[in-house]
Amino acid sequence: MPEPALRGVGVSPGVAVGPVASMGAGVPEPPADGHPPPNPAAEAEAAAAALEAVAADLEARGERAGGDAADVLQAQAMMALDPGLAEKVEQATAVGRTAARAVFEAFAGYREELAEASQYLAARVADLDDVRDRAVARLLGVPMPGVPDPGHPFVLVARDLAPADTAALDRRTVLAFVTEEGGPTSHTAILARSLGVPAVVGCAGASGLADGVQVLVDGGSGEVVPDPAEAAAAAATRRDAARRAALAGSPSGPGATADGQRVLLLANVRGPAEVPDALAAGAEGVGLLRTEFLFLDRTEPPAVAEQERAYRQVLDAFPAGAKVVIRTLDAGADKPLAFLSPGDEPNPALGQRGLRAVRRSPEVLAGQLEAVGRAAAAGRAEAWVMAPMVATAAEAAWFRDQARHQGVAMAGVMVEVPAAALLAEAVLAEADFASIGTNDLAQYTYAADRQVSGLAAFQDPWQPALLALVARVGEAGRSLGKPVGVCGEAAGDPLLALVLAGLGATSLSMAPAALAEVRLLLARHTMEDCRRLAAAALAAPDAATARRRVREAAPAATELGL
Ligand code: PEP
Ligand code: MG
Repeated sequence: MPEPALRGVGVSPGVAVGPVASMGAGVPEPPADGHPPPNPAAEAEAAAAALEAVAADLEARGERAGGDAADVLQAQAMMALDPGLAEKVEQATAVGRTAARAVFEAFAGYREELAEASQYLAARVADLDDVRDRAVARLLGVPMPGVPDPGHPFVLVARDLAPADTAALDRRTVLAFVTEEGGPTSHTAILARSLGVPAVVGCAGASGLADGVQVLVDGGSGEVVPDPAEAAAAAATRRDAARRAALAGSPSGPGATADGQRVLLLANVRGPAEVPDALAAGAEGVGLLRTEFLFLDRTEPPAVAEQERAYRQVLDAFPAGAKVVIRTLDAGADKPLAFLSPGDEPNPALGQRGLRAVRRSPEVLAGQLEAVGRAAAAGRAEAWVMAPMVATAAEAAWFRDQARHQGVAMAGVMVEVPAAALLAEAVLAEADFASIGTNDLAQYTYAADRQVSGLAAFQDPWQPALLALVARVGEAGRSLGKPVGVCGEAAGDPLLALVLAGLGATSLSMAPAALAEVRLLLARHTMEDCRRLAAAALAAPDAATARRRVREAAPAATELGL
């Protein structure tokens, strides 16, 4: 009998069929003593064999990956084969440690030496920990940590995905994501949309899918079907191909309503590597450059020159006059960073995150703003900069002053905290523009952690309370004559994009894959239509009613299959 279909929340449209490969969870610390007491010679041999196997695997993966990744993997393979490490392992087995424990302890000593040796080597301790975990996993017989590499394309199944887990994901091999946890604004959802791969999150039972089982993933409906019948898989793939073909024939060029009112259509990107997709999708610029990509997996911030190069790459990819909005580091909560986020907070989402975190370490922000300032002076497109998690007008003013000091002309705020939306006029008076982060704004408006899949309904950006806050910021922008964008995931929902434009958003920024649908639907409605739809959504008692009323009042969406 076929296994029953699983259902979660479809967060990135498209259909994929392929074999499951699961993300390895954390590797446990091996127990200090073995029962019965281990045989030192046998344990030493087992440890050496595990380290050799890890090195061979890393080398093989490096050869397959090529480019920069090959160098990193080769360096890791050399760590596994380091004679100093082998000596430490032997010393530990000689005093009765098991092979796994000996490897674990030997790496601890090696790690300390490395951290003290030089700044460059200190930055490699994360790579070293990865090598240790791989060797220990082998010896304990538990799954390898991190993104699997089965050697063929696969559907990645995980409990949830953190930014550091996925920094090096290769979309040529990941066919789709399925996660047990996570809501529509989780990191997994954002990542999947930016890679343009189908994804289903909050999918109960996903962790029970065995590696190698074929699954059909429908990132629109949220269905995950193990061992799908051939006819069903073919039909789903055909439907998806038809959807893509309809979009391919849609208008290109700048975003505008049917009556010619401009709504800038921008891309959310996580670094220069995603810029080609944004350009191919006709993005008019970047509305959210998530700069965390430069800081992940580091033990200290990247140098100013390295940051400047990365920002320049993005700025130079767009024409003069286009804008690229660089968000300063948003560390903490769902984006923890080793050197900035306090590890002992009881409630990190309500703690030292975003602008608050860098106010405690002003040198990190100063370095980043200096890099933006330098890139802005020499780059082609216009560099705007904005701070995440601004709650008060005083914070907005402080940030603007820091940015000006580094020569950045346009300094804005992300509106992600209800307090900033409620006092939007006062906050915007101290900023050059605002960009609404609906993912966090929903989280804080509904007191619902965006990482908890059981609370996904509160993360629905159609919630009228959330839209009322967006309306408030839109009004403030209109009255002060300052741009107000939306860069949360809400902007990439074509029907909701109409509502956001009607609420006063002057730009919408989204994953490149969403641009075509939003552009198409916007072009079919006048700004007056958008205002009417916005009023209908605001007057609804709940998200489902808001969505239904707007859909009924915008028949073009149904006609276009959106
Ligand atoms: C948001 O909160 O809506 C946002 C765009 O920022 P992030 O998802 O990176 O927190
Ligand atoms: Mg945010």
